[in-house]
Amino acid sequence: MDDTSFAMRVIPSVDEVLRSTVGMELVKTVGRDQALRAVRDCTVRIREHLSANSEATRTEIVAMIDEMLLSVNEQFDRNRLRRVINATGVVIHTNLGRSPLSAAAVAAFCREASDYCNVEFDLNTGERGRRGASAEKLLAVLTGAEEGLIVNNCAAAALLVLSAIAKGGEVIVSRGELVEIGGDFRIPDVLEQSGCRLREVGTTNRTKLSDYERAITEETKAILRVHPSNYRITGFTESASLNELADLAHRNGLIMFEDAGSGALTGLSMFGLGDEPVIKDSISLGADIVVFSGDKLCGGVQAGLIVGSSELIERVKRHPLYRAVRADKLCYAAVEATLMSFSRGTAFEDVPTLKMLSSSYEGIAKRAGDLVSKLNELRIGSLSFEMIDGTSAVGGGAGTNVELKTRLISITHKQLSAKEIAAAFRNFDVPIVARIAEEKVLLDLRTVSENDEMVIENCLKNLSKTNGSGSKIPT
Ligand SMILES: *Cc1c(COP(=O)(O)O)cnc(C)c1O
Repeated sequence: MDDTSFAMRVIPSVDEVLRSTVGMELVKTVGRDQALRAVRDCTVRIREHLSANSEATRTEIVAMIDEMLLSVNEQFDRNRLRRVINATGVVIHTNLGRSPLSAAAVAAFCREASDYCNVEFDLNTGERGRRGASAEKLLAVLTGAEEGLIVNNCAAAALLVLSAIAKGGEVIVSRGELVEIGGDFRIPDVLEQSGCRLREVGTTNRTKLSDYERAITEETKAILRVHPSNYRITGFTESASLNELADLAHRNGLIMFEDAGSGALTGLSMFGLGDEPVIKDSISLGADIVVFSGDKLCGGVQAGLIVGSSELIERVKRHPLYRAVRADKLCYAAVEATLMSFSRGTAFEDVPTLKMLSSSYEGIAKRAGDLVSKLNELRIGSLSFEMIDGTSAVGGGAGTNVELKTRLISITHKQLSAKEIAAAFRNFDVPIVARIAEEKVLLDLRTVSENDEMVIENCLKNLSKTNGSGSKIPT
C-alpha cells in the first residue's frame, strides 16, 4: 500500500475535524474560514508526518490533530495585534509601533474621531470644509511655515513632494545622503519612482557647496537635503549647510527640499540630540518645503508631515497622488492632539516619547530600585534581580550615536537561559519585550510607563500559575 492511499484512509476529512469538539471550539473562537484554513494546514502536516512514519493509527492521528488545533487556537490569540510592554530601552522602536500615544491623542482618537466627526466639514457654514484643516494649520504655526499638509507617512510625503515639484527634471543630492532608511526606503529609488532624475554630487564623505553649484543646469528643479537618519559618516567630512544650499537654490530659481526624517518640533540638544533637524530652523534657514515623520521625535501616530510655502503645498495637494496617500480621520485627531502639547509647551510631560527621552538617569535608577525591591519581596527563589548601568537608544533613525545613560534591571534564573526567560516574558498576559546581553535579560524602565511597573510586578507574581500559552517559569 503506498503512503498516499494510507494517509487518505486514516486521516479524518476536514469536515469531520470541524465537527469534532476541538474543531467546533476553534470555529466558535476564530470563525469558520480561519478554522477551515487551520484544519487544512493541520492535515497537510499530518500527511507529511505520515509519509515519513506510516505506523500511526487513526486514534493517534485524531489525537495529533486535536493537539495541533489547540495550539492553533492559542497562536491565533497570541499573534493578533496586541499591546506589549517595551522594556528594551529603545524609545522609538519601529517593530513595536514607534511612539506610544499621549493620553490626549488617545482621547481624541477614541472619543472624537472614532465617531462621525468634522474631518472635512465646516461647522460654521454647514458645508464641506478643508480636510484636516485644524491639524494642518497648527502644524504650520508650530514650524513657522506658511502651510502644512498631512499624509499617510513620511515615505509617502517624500514621494508625493518629489512627484509634485520635480517630475521630469533633475534633483541634486549629495552622495553622502543617498541612504537607505530601512524597510527598503532608498533615496535613489524614491527619486526614480517620482519621475525625477537623480543628479548625485560630491563624494560619500565630502560634498562642497561648489559641487552643487556646478551641477545646476536648465534641467534642475530642486536641491534635496536628506537627513541620513540611522547612518553617520564621521572623520574627514564636509557638507554644505542648509542655509548655503537654500541661498544657492533661490539664486537659481530652484526649490530647496528637505527630508528631515525624524524631525524635531523643539530643540533636543540637551538630550544629546543636537543633530536632529528642528523643523522651525529648517524653515527659517530657507527650506521651501520639508517632510518629517509623525511618529518619530514628534511622538504621535504614523503620518507624513509636510510644511512649506503656500504655493508649494498647494501644488502638492493638487497632485493626483495626494488622494492616494492622504491621512484618515484617526490620524488627524492624534496628530492634532499631539501637536497641541507642543503648542502649550507641555510635550515633555504629555508626549510619552519626549518624556522617555528626557527621563534622567537618577529618576530611572530610583524607579528600578523600587521595582527590584518589590520583585525581591515576591521571593521567587530561582529568579534573581539585580541592577546594572547601561544605555538606552533613541531608535527610529534618530540620534544614531546617542547613548542615553540608564539603570537596568538584570534578570537571571537558576535553570533557564536568558533566551528562555525572555521567551517566557513575551508569553505573559501582557507580553514584556526585553533585551538580552551577556546571558542576562535586561529591563530598561526608560521605555516602561509607571503604570506598567505594576503590570510587570503582577506578571511575575502570577509566575507559578500557568499563563496564556501554558508556559511556566520554574520558581
Ligand atoms: C524614517 C524616515 C523616512 C520614512 O518615514 P516613515 O514615516 O516611516 O514613512 C523617510 N526619510 C527619512 C530621512 C527618515 O528618517
